[in-house]
Amino acid sequence: MIRHRRSKKIARFAVLPLVLLVLMGVVLIAASQFTKNSGEMTKALDGREEEPAQVSSGNAETEIAKETFKIMIDAGHGGKDPGAPGASGVEEKVSNLAIALKVNELLRQDPMFEVRMTRTDDTFVEIEDRSAMANDWDADVLLSIHGNSYEDGSVSGSETFYRYDNGLALATSIHQKLVDAMGFRDRGVRLNELKVLTLSQMPAILIETGYLTNAAEEAVILSEEGQNKMAQAIVDGLKQFVQQSAATK
Ligand SMILES: [Zn+2]
Repeated sequence: MIRHRRSKKIARFAVLPLVLLVLMGVVLIAASQFTKNSGEMTKALDGREEEPAQVSSGNAETEIAKETFKIMIDAGHGGKDPGAPGASGVEEKVSNLAIALKVNELLRQDPMFEVRMTRTDDTFVEIEDRSAMANDWDADVLLSIHGNSYEDGSVSGSETFYRYDNGLALATSIHQKLVDAMGFRDRGVRLNELKVLTLSQMPAILIETGYLTNAAEEAVILSEEGQNKMAQAIVDGLKQFVQQSAATK
């Protein structure tokens, strides 16, 4: 009995600390929960406070990543200025425009680029106005597309001209892609004081895709397949140039 009572007493003594422990536990959990919550609230408040800064820095990063490049595409000649006739008699202005339109189409598929053209149809545009359009728009790049000609029909190949140092990397990048894609003779990248390049303030190049007076090259330049290939090569070279210049910024 005593044992029993004692055990009851012991039990009572044992239960009290247990209840206290449980109570303390509850209080502690509640306290830690509160701290956690208030911590989160602080964090949330901090976050809210930092939000504009984070958003703006995020935007800055996005701007760098999504910076649009303004490309002025210049289809050589046009209207009363036909350029040189090719081996088949087709005038240069025709294939220049066809390739330029394809480059335009390809670039428009990429939100990285804003594109304008100095002409979109068989219109005559003064050389000065072509450069002025690019300068006034503050274009990042001017691409002038031409086809070459020579009295000797055996002469062939692609060549790309630049005027200022700022156009050399662009010329090199596009020229290499073009030569690789088309397989025409590589006539190189050269400095040339062509008016459209001289008057343009941004990296500007003039691409002589191939010799229209060379029957074999003209056939490729006049073909849908050849024009698609050329346009893609020009776009590939341009993208490579943009990536390279972004990496060195
Ligand atoms: Zn030309």
